[in-house]
Amino acid sequence: MRVVEKAARSYDAAIIGSGFASTFFLYRYLKHAPPNARVLVLERGKWHTHADQIEMGHPSEIHESTTWVDKGPKQNLRWKFTIGFGGGSNCWWGNAVRLHPSDFKLKTKYGVGLDWPIDYDDIEPYYCEAEEVMQLSGPRERMLWPRSRPFPQPPHTLPLADRLLKEAYPEHHFAAATARPSRDTATRPKCCSNGVCHLCPIDSKFSILNSFMEPYEDARVEILLTAEARAIDVQGGQARGVMFRRNGQEYEVSADLVVLGANALFNPVIMQRSGLDHPLLGRRLHGSYSEYGEALLDGVDNFQGSSIICGMNYAKYDGDFRREHPSVLLETWNRGALRAEHGKWRQVVPFTLKLEDLPQDRSHVRLAHPDDDLPEVLYDELSPYTAKAVNRALQFAEEILSPLPVEGLRWLPSPDTIGGPHIYGTTMMGTDPATSILDANQIHHQVRNLVVVGSGSFPAGSQSNPTLTICAVAMKAADKIGAPA
Ligand SMILES: Cc1cc2nc3c(=O)[nH]c(=O)nc-3n(C[C@H](O)[C@H](O)[C@H](O)COP(=O)(O)OP(=O)(O)OC[C@H]3O[C@@H](n4cnc5c(N)ncnc54)[C@H](O)[C@@H]3O)c2cc1C
Ligand code: SF4
Repeated sequence: MRVVEKAARSYDAAIIGSGFASTFFLYRYLKHAPPNARVLVLERGKWHTHADQIEMGHPSEIHESTTWVDKGPKQNLRWKFTIGFGGGSNCWWGNAVRLHPSDFKLKTKYGVGLDWPIDYDDIEPYYCEAEEVMQLSGPRERMLWPRSRPFPQPPHTLPLADRLLKEAYPEHHFAAATARPSRDTATRPKCCSNGVCHLCPIDSKFSILNSFMEPYEDARVEILLTAEARAIDVQGGQARGVMFRRNGQEYEVSADLVVLGANALFNPVIMQRSGLDHPLLGRRLHGSYSEYGEALLDGVDNFQGSSIICGMNYAKYDGDFRREHPSVLLETWNRGALRAEHGKWRQVVPFTLKLEDLPQDRSHVRLAHPDDDLPEVLYDELSPYTAKAVNRALQFAEEILSPLPVEGLRWLPSPDTIGGPHIYGTTMMGTDPATSILDANQIHHQVRNLVVVGSGSFPAGSQSNPTLTICAVAMKAADKIGAPA
């Protein structure tokens, strides 16, 4: 691995960030690049080993809340990520689900939201590849949508409540697809359901550091840490290189290809600083809506599962109802507060109910002034489509959990119902350059040697976690860029 202290003058490719999007792009890009290619990875954060992260109690010494300014009316949202080598792979929880084919075609199928410029089938092989890299554990039976390969690992053991839900919904309740392995992998022990996955104490969940250093071990790749990309040098419609800041000094490196993978909050801001303006740049910022609850059970002792989040219920995920209200995903947890009543301690199912949100132009991230360091984030509120479904959330949960002997259902207070770790829409893909920033391969419509990877490119996020799709779409982009014309 070549962690350098100084960049050379020029490279074939400069890759910004070392999170999921950049790393999976780099992995496929190297398969096409010539043996003498030179690639520079510019990473804003430091490299903290897993042991360092445990010691610090946080994956990075930079707290993400110090990297942006909240200008929204509520001013209490928490957009969450990790600044550091490996990005969000250090702190994620390892839920690694595919999107549903309908998620890509909301407008066409249900007349709401926006269509993606790609289909599920376009990225299905890449989903398989990402699942293999992460050694995902998942259900053996047929799921709602086609898969060309089985999950690399068998599913986790389901707790009793999930087994009952599976009996009631054979085609809509599944063991969670997860990067928390059900068996030891070559590099990680199996998950033992501690339930503190943002810093897994036994380093079980997939991270770039523990299982995917292959792209960085390639002799063609140099890594420059604590290098904050500030802007892309764009001249004559071509990206010429990257301007970056390191140790208080400004530098520039030239590159034939620039890949921007700094995440959905920072990618549009770096583009804005580069003069790449577009009416929708930084706009349409959205996430999903989550409520955390508990269903109190009568006579069913729970928590026998072998991982933290064990079940996923798709009974209200897809159907014509999406014309009226958002898709609903219910995740069941194998961890939570025990009940106080004697004899009923384990008679509870903790769950998350997630609703998809739709993009709105007025929510945005931007630099108020080009010289500002910190982006301003204005996330207004949920789309009316989602907002009107929020007061039905309890009803959705009651309906989905009705096959269980539920004696009471309650919501738990949470600061993270809106916003949170999934960030969408700020550099969206589309077919029309007037209404989108990137094409279907995440290549900038005008600057054809600039690729912008990550979930900012998702035209409409889903309530399904985004990261597997981020990886799949990034690999597709690398194949498009690298394959011979
Ligand atoms: C607590 C938590 C739990 C999560 N759990 C899940 C989950 O279970 N399932 C799921 O699908 N998703 C989950 N996520 C979301 C997931 O982490 C993100 O979707 C994913 O990390 C996004 O990948 P990315 O590569 O686009 O960005 P990131 O992973 O954020 O990577 C961006 C990289 O760019 C670097 N960077 C930033 N700015 C610059 C700059 N100016 N110059 C150079 N480098 C820069 C960062 O340091 C980082 O390395 C979770 C997130 C959090 C915070
Ligand atoms: S449940 Fe525990 S062992 Fe499993 S990934 Fe999370 S923290 Fe690690």
